[in-house]
Amino acid sequence: MKITGVKAVYPRYQHVVPSWRTHFWQIVVQVETDVGAIGLGYGGGGVAGVEIVNRHYRELLIGKEVDSVDDVAGLWNYLYAESLPYGRKGLAIMALSGVDLALYDLLGKAADKPVYEVLGGARKSHIMAYATGPNSQAYRDYGFLHHKFPHRFTGDPADYESAVTAAANARQIYGSDARIMVDCYMSWDVEVTKRMAEILAEFNPYWYEDVLTPDDLPGQADLRTVAAPALIAGGEHEFTHHGFAGIARAGALGLWQPDITWCGGITAGRRIIDLARGAGVPVSPHRGAEVWGLHLIVASDWADFAEMHSDHINAQRDELWLDEPQVVDGYITPPDRPGFGVTLNEAML
Ligand SMILES: [Mg+2]
Repeated sequence: MKITGVKAVYPRYQHVVPSWRTHFWQIVVQVETDVGAIGLGYGGGGVAGVEIVNRHYRELLIGKEVDSVDDVAGLWNYLYAESLPYGRKGLAIMALSGVDLALYDLLGKAADKPVYEVLGGARKSHIMAYATGPNSQAYRDYGFLHHKFPHRFTGDPADYESAVTAAANARQIYGSDARIMVDCYMSWDVEVTKRMAEILAEFNPYWYEDVLTPDDLPGQADLRTVAAPALIAGGEHEFTHHGFAGIARAGALGLWQPDITWCGGITAGRRIIDLARGAGVPVSPHRGAEVWGLHLIVASDWADFAEMHSDHINAQRDELWLDEPQVVDGYITPPDRPGFGVTLNEAML
């Protein structure tokens, strides 16, 4: 197939503040071909990401052939190299993710196969999911068996108590066998993490996520022994296999969470998973219950445990992608339709 058109669009979200960086900055990327097959991808970067795709990646992609996973990897390498002076991490790679996922969708649709088949086939029939958000009881009522709650440390000593209360509540609702996680979103520091690891240990958390900023790899590496047996998790703010290689060298994290719509798509995701397997570190992709990560998880021998964000559970949300798979009794399965198996809500473009 020859690529004949590439277009990125920032959707008209209704249920978020109308800023370029809201709603996880997600953009839609469409790739057209000379055989009529069209691929749709989901990337990051907001209107800045849209500009990168439409004003740079587009001219690089038009006329290129794409018929295989290796072709997609070759195009990924080409776009990465061409955007390197301003890219490597952040917006350029979030935009590249949308292109990469559109190309995978294209491969699937052209072969009339779901993306996990393009990746070699499903290695598991369904995936354990967990719910992220503050409403612990509501997610349990919805069917989730595992849960991550957010916690922010503001400097107020009462923030320690609120962490204990939230952890006790989550453990009580989900029971002793459940995985309970804490997302600190870079609001803790080394001292706070040490204290939290002490006072939350009785609730046996599975991981503490983003305790420090992603730039402080040595700090996170040191905290792994302090937090054990809980894991120090992170990676949603890291990009490509080059970025994750740095995490591996520093031994900074006990669990990696690449976001497949930000880190460089499935091409980067596969390379990151290969690194993780080599390092013996588990992978649980950020927002992995959305189809973009879900197909990769189900086809992988190393990634597992799919995150569903609370804005995906909320009834008042933008349905940009129709027919998304739902969590049933705590588990989720990717659609077996061609490509990623979701339908774009064109009314939002
Ligand atoms: Mg997070």
